[in-house]
Amino acid sequence: KKLGIALVGLGGYAGGQLAPALQKTQNCYLAGIVTGTPSKAVDWAKKYNIPQENIYNYQNFDEIAKNKAIDIVYVVLPVALHKEYTIRAAQAGKHVICEKPMAVNAKDCEDMIAACKKSNRLLSIGYRLHFEPHNIEIMRLGQKQVFGKVKSIDTGNGFTYGGDPNAWRLKKALAGGGGLMDMGVYAIQASRYTLGQEPIAVKATQEKTRPELFKEVDETVFWELKFPGGQKVTGKSSYNHDWGYVKAEAERGKFQLEPAYGYGGIEGFTSNGPLKFPQIVQQAAQMDDFANCVNLNKQSRVPGEEGWKDMRVIDAIYRSLDSGNWEKIG
Ligand code: NAD
Repeated sequence: KKLGIALVGLGGYAGGQLAPALQKTQNCYLAGIVTGTPSKAVDWAKKYNIPQENIYNYQNFDEIAKNKAIDIVYVVLPVALHKEYTIRAAQAGKHVICEKPMAVNAKDCEDMIAACKKSNRLLSIGYRLHFEPHNIEIMRLGQKQVFGKVKSIDTGNGFTYGGDPNAWRLKKALAGGGGLMDMGVYAIQASRYTLGQEPIAVKATQEKTRPELFKEVDETVFWELKFPGGQKVTGKSSYNHDWGYVKAEAERGKFQLEPAYGYGGIEGFTSNGPLKFPQIVQQAAQMDDFANCVNLNKQSRVPGEEGWKDMRVIDAIYRSLDSGNWEKIG
């Protein structure tokens, strides 16, 4: 069955990436929208042929429970709202995709996972790179130890923030944090999926060059992760540097992606030469996979637990920024 997806929050990512990707999906389609802006409802209804009965606002959202055309709710809101809308969607009987970072802390992730379990609904995080061929290859090279054991990883992700100084991304109450939450989560992900192991401790430092803009949230954060295998794993995130790479050194060779984390244009090299994989519409592959999981009642490869694991690392990084010490993860 081709499943109906409702997007909650019609901002940049929903409008720029997810809605266009939903024109290319096979197993799901854009069936509904949830928006607080009536003019967006009109524009989207026209552009994507969305029937009036599948359009909700934040007040009447829970009525979506009665709507059989909506199978999956995709939460694309500011981070601090992920928890509430994921839980309300699950309680309305819908399967949920929630954007990254999953929530403002690991405890909220636990509540979201519990709510979806209780309602017997599947939960998945918008980790599109698990469907991207170059990143999948990096997972294979690292986890299968194709070049021997990985000895070190270095990764960074960031962009130079030049947007609205009043945007939610700069407000702690809505974003939970800054570049670490928004961009660093990809770098943490890559460290975890390249090694196929979970980090146990972290030490972090930060830098602020535009404190007037980043009053409430982190600008640039550097960290070192301790893994059980003793590998040297460093990472960094930023709202002030254009970074996007992961580099791994193994016993018998190296492999890397740069750019690593974008919507397209991913490039990879190993000691054997360039990686040759197609660029795909990652979001289409991600949503099609989740629809397939729902149809088969099978856990997604990026379930809520995957978002929770990253949030535990992020929580520990913030603790380390406060304490100046190594902090245990979890
Ligand atoms: P955005 O600011 O462009 O859109 C946010 C939307 O939420 C807007 O339509 C806004 O009107 C709505 N909204 C509802 N309640 C709000 C409130 N109280 N305050 C502010 N806005 C409110 O942001 P975005 O870039 O689309 O990001 C949305 C989510 O998607 C975030 O979690 C972000 O991390 C994630 N995202 C993921 C990717 C990815 O590659 N997976 C890329 C971009 C964004």
